[in-house]
This record gives sequence, C-alpha cells and structure tokens, in this order.
Amino acid sequence: MTSTETIEALRAELAALLGERGVSTDPKTRERASVDEATMSPILSEQLPLGLADLVAHPANAEEIAAVVAAATRHRVPVTARGKGTGNYGQGIPLRGGLVLDTTRARAVVEVGDGVITAEAGASMALLERTAAASGQQLWMYPSTAQSTVGGFLSGGSSGTGTIAHGSNWEGFVVALDVALPGPEPVLAHVEGEDARTFVHTYGTAGVIARATVRLEPAQDWRAVYASFPTFEEALGAVRTLRALDPLPRLVSADRAAVAERLPADPAIPAGRASLRAIIDAVALEEASSLISAAGGVVEDVREGTQQTIKVSTLSYNHPIWWLKKNSPGREYFHVEVGGEALIDRIHEVEAVYPGGMLHIEAGHRFPIGMLTAEYTGAADVYAGYAKLVELGVRVHSPHQFYVDHGVEELLALKQRTDPDGLLNPGHLGVPELAVTLPAQAKI
Ligand SMILES: Cc1cc2nc3c(=O)[nH]c(=O)nc-3n(C[C@H](O)[C@H](O)[C@H](O)COP(=O)(O)OP(=O)(O)OC[C@H]3O[C@@H](n4cnc5c(N)ncnc54)[C@H](O)[C@@H]3O)c2cc1C
Repeated sequence: MTSTETIEALRAELAALLGERGVSTDPKTRERASVDEATMSPILSEQLPLGLADLVAHPANAEEIAAVVAAATRHRVPVTARGKGTGNYGQGIPLRGGLVLDTTRARAVVEVGDGVITAEAGASMALLERTAAASGQQLWMYPSTAQSTVGGFLSGGSSGTGTIAHGSNWEGFVVALDVALPGPEPVLAHVEGEDARTFVHTYGTAGVIARATVRLEPAQDWRAVYASFPTFEEALGAVRTLRALDPLPRLVSADRAAVAERLPADPAIPAGRASLRAIIDAVALEEASSLISAAGGVVEDVREGTQQTIKVSTLSYNHPIWWLKKNSPGREYFHVEVGGEALIDRIHEVEAVYPGGMLHIEAGHRFPIGMLTAEYTGAADVYAGYAKLVELGVRVHSPHQFYVDHGVEELLALKQRTDPDGLLNPGHLGVPELAVTLPAQAKI
C-alpha cells in the first residue's frame, strides 16, 4: 500500500509534467484502468476485484512514458502499463495498486521503412496494418483484437492473423524496442534483436515498451473466405488441407454450428452449419475452393479489401468464445487454450473431456491451436480436465491465472538488471502451481 501523501505528491508531479488532464485520481477512471478481459475466465472473475490503481497517467509520447516511469520510481510507486485492456489473463490488473500508465495517447506511427514499421506503444495494430498497406506492405501478424496496442500485443499477446507463416510474436516479429526502465531519471533503453525479444510477452514486468519496431513484408492480395459445412468434423478436414496451401493462408478458423450461431449475424455464416473463415491469397483462391468442396463444404462468400480481412480476423482466436459468452444469457462458459494435431485426430475424445465441450480451432503455425469451451461447473472441474487433455496428446495453456508463464527464468534474469526493486507490474511474476503441474512439452 502506498500512502495517500505519496500518491498526492506523485499526482502533482505528473500534473506538472503532463498537464492536469494527463493524470487522474477519479474513482471511475481508476476502476476502469484496473480490470481487463480477465472476465472471460469465470475462475478469475470470481476473484475480482484483484487490485485498484491509485492513479492513472496518460503520457502522449515515448519520452513522456519514460518521464512517468522515472517519476513513479522516485516516489517508489508501482507501475502497471496498460494498452487497450484486452488482455484476458488479468495480466494488466494492478495487483498492488499504484500507478496505471495508460499508453493509448502515445499512438504516433513514427516511420515506415522497407520491411519495418516503428510506432509508439499506444498505436493500434489495426493502424499499423493500414499504414503498412499504404506503403504496399503488411504486418507479419496482428491479434484478433486488432484495436489493441502494439505495446500491449507485444507484452501481453502472442499470435493471431499471420501466425500460420510467422509463429508467435517472440519468433522474430520484433526488430527493436525503446523501453522505459525504472530509475530516478527518464531512461529509454534501445534494444534490438534477441535483446528486444526478451521483453516480449512479459506483461510489462521488466520494462515499459515506449516505442516498437516490428516486421512488415510485401503486401499480398488477400481474400476473406467464408465457407460452411454440414458437420464440424468436415470443417476440421478443411482446416488441415487449407493450412498447407501455397502461399500459406493468413488465417484459417473454424467453429461448430452451436458456436458459429453466437457470432454477429452474417449471411455467410448460415445457421445450423459449421463455419470456416479464412484469409487466402487470391492466387490460391481456386485451389482453396476445391479443398473446401473436397472436404464437404461450400464457399458462402469471398470478400475483398483490408476492412474485410480485418473483419475475418476479429472473428478468430478468443473472439468466438467471447461472443458465445456474450450471446448466451444465463449460461456461464469457460475455455482452455489447447494445441496439437490431436485436436483434429481425436476431436471427439478432446471435446468429451468436458461435458458439452466444443472446440474453436485455428490452423496455427507448427500445429493447430484452439479454445476448448464448455459450461462452467467449478474451478476443480476445469483443472481436472488438464491432465486428461495432456493424456490425449493435447498441449494445454491455462487462461485462468495472471502470472507470466513463458520464459520465466530468462525474465527473472532480465528483471534483476532492469527492475531490481520490483516496481513494474508487481504480483504477476511467480511460479504458478498450474505451470508446475503441466510438463513443459505439454504447454502450447
Ligand atoms: C476476445 C479476445 C480476443 C483476443 N485475441 C487475441 C489474439 O488473437 N491474439 C493474442 O495474442 N491475444 C489475443 N487476446 C488477448 C489480448 O487481446 C492481447 O494480449 C492484446 O494484444 C493485448 O493488447 P492491449 O493493448 O489490450 O494490452 P493490455 O491488455 O492493456 O495489456 C496486456 C499486458 O501487457 C502489459 N502492457 C501493456 N502495454 C504495455 C507496454 N507499452 N509496455 C509493457 N507492458 C505493457 C500490461 O501490463 C498487461 O500485462 C484476445 C483477448 C480477447 C478478450
């Protein structure tokens, strides 16, 4: 707990730095800044509120981000960075209170080069994609939460549209970062390559990303393809064949009819049929149509333009489960992140792990990944399913805990250098019981 006097002293200093509108202690603003999409997990929801910010700062550029981190350090106040707050593990919740540093006003695109784009932390991934398109290029990847920030996606996300070709966001996507580090004076550490990668997916516990340079590639002529199938099993067959297309698809997602019916109404997602949505290079469109027919499906629609491909992206990854929850009043659903060929090869056994289980699937990079959802009957039932899934050869990641659980040892070593006093997003670095009980090779 930080004393009221300390918070007031920091508020006054931040107001001098950012202007009165650049810092807030308003209770509603603090509450809004203290929860993210952790509400997707009934297990996390039961624990809310898990923390409350004492104040919220809104720096407008990278230098101000560094100045805010320095001011908080001088007052020894914890700092939790925040983008759009779409993280669904509660990773953006300020567990120990303190300052929430909202980056969404620092949203300038700094430069577009050949194969790279540099932007401030609060720029949205959709803005980066549109800016890249204007120069004949495209992002390597962006998440289904296309409005989320580049700083938030690199710190809290992992994959999305483009992952089939490029893997996760820690696999070469980041070229360089300017990272605000705790210290009495503003510090923007410039890190590149491997040194930059170590900050990815660390929930802002080792530094606050102020500016990021990420990879672009030459733009492709994408088509948004909607297909439907009599059964989900047939759609799964198409997921497998489509992911081998040349050029690779940018995205292939599929759902059972019962999940697809909860998506926003669209004539290309007909009721009672399994739905497949994909982003396919125009040169592979004919072959994709043949593969869809061969698997027993029909192409419902093919749409052109960046808006249309981004729309298909926003129906991928966690989104079908998000819509299922939103559009199923009176029912509570949970999901588990799963991966591996077993998702297709052993679909009935996989879904049977939870009564009424339904899989949302993505084609993935090395293997398919997905979200296995079912009605929530209690945390113990959810956890009991993990071991059964692992036995089936399924990789499991639990979205029901808020600890960093990727590259933890490397992060601890980094943090010793960058944040020895533990001021950055405290409480999110521990050894979660669930990560220990799951063998490393069973994790996604
Ligand atoms: C419906 C739904 C769909 C989703 N789909 C995807 C998906 O396709 N792919 C995917 O990877 N994720 C997905 N997510 C998770 C989430 O959208 C990603 O983690 C996202 O990109 C986070 O961006 P954000 O701007 O909302 O960050 P926030 O949620 O605000 O922050 C995420 C984490 O990063 C930290 N952080 C934020 N900004 C910075 C910064 N500048 N420097 C350091 N740390 C920072 C925060 O403290 C927090 O720990 C989804 C979530 C939901 C609810």
